[in-house]
Amino acid sequence: PVILAIESSCDETSAAICADGVMLSNVIANQTIHEAYGGVVPELASRVHQQNIVPAVQQALLNAKVNKNDIDAVAFTRGPGLLGSLLVGVSFAKAFALAKNLPLIEVNHMQAHVLAHFIGDNKPRFPFLCLTVSGGHTQIVLVKDYFDMEVIGQTLDDAAGEAMDKTSKILGLPYPGGPLIDKYARLGNADAYKFPEPQIPGLDFSFSGLKTSILYFIRDNTARNPDFVQENLNDICASVEKRIATILLNKLEKAALEYNIQDIALAGGVSANTGLRLGLQALCAKRGWNAFIPKMEYCTDNAAMIAIAGYHKYLKGDFIGQDVAPLARMPF
Ligand code: ATP
Ligand code: MG
Ligand code: FE
Repeated sequence: PVILAIESSCDETSAAICADGVMLSNVIANQTIHEAYGGVVPELASRVHQQNIVPAVQQALLNAKVNKNDIDAVAFTRGPGLLGSLLVGVSFAKAFALAKNLPLIEVNHMQAHVLAHFIGDNKPRFPFLCLTVSGGHTQIVLVKDYFDMEVIGQTLDDAAGEAMDKTSKILGLPYPGGPLIDKYARLGNADAYKFPEPQIPGLDFSFSGLKTSILYFIRDNTARNPDFVQENLNDICASVEKRIATILLNKLEKAALEYNIQDIALAGGVSANTGLRLGLQALCAKRGWNAFIPKMEYCTDNAAMIAIAGYHKYLKGDFIGQDVAPLARMPF
């Protein structure tokens, strides 16, 4: 089947086409309007989705060299995400399917982040563990089958991406700060400053304490030296990145030992982070496990992951009716 997939859960408008599970195109329109606000402004995000959705789909068709009459099904992100953003993608998907008399496939955005690993040839084997780290989520997922996933650990407060973005805000960097922290961290000494590792039992995470300790650290040092951040930006970013990565990887290692699993995957926007990618590779090399790290374009929000999830639902005949509505919260 040829599947058109739509993603609009946050601030990326994305459309992708896949044919029999092979990705033919993946168009991502980023929204820059939020940079000035230090975070995504939901009302602005939905308006920009409204402007971008049709051009994104047209570009996806063009890149894939597929005619819109050759589409067999429409897959879309139903949730979780910003309701106003989701509404645009869901409404477009429903309208397209209605006009062309096509089946609709609903996709859970967090499952899709995990299923991005089934694009291409290097696929993990079930059951595997996936650390899904993004702007809104931090989860260790036990993946038993395509749509049989269990969250065995998660954050009790902030997400890992939020920790990146809030730290960058404290440092005076624009939103989203994760990629900038990554950039400066490459030039710094990761052992320059020691931030605390939270003591949370089991497989859960917490990042709010780290955020507070970074805030106080910057405040106290800036009181002594107003140029502290400017003079030490690389070392600060490297040290923060290292702490966030070790918090994540220590729990992931614990989970893999507890569940006796050797295939370990990363997913979500923060899996674009260089320190985390290198850290997982080092951990897996040490333990003799297999590391699965998505291509960069499949880390942050994209419709290709919605397309591959949609493809596997299509094979099961798992369709949804025209009365479907988006869900801001959508557990597995
Ligand atoms: P969710 O998937 O939970 O609904 P989201 O869709 O907003 O949230 P993604 O687009 O998957 O999240 O990820 C965005 C997050 O990834 C942001 O917090 C961003 O700072 C972070 N991020 C992106 N690239 C990097 C990087 N290289 N290093 C660190 N963080 C990064
Ligand atoms: Mg985003
Ligand atoms: Fe996401």
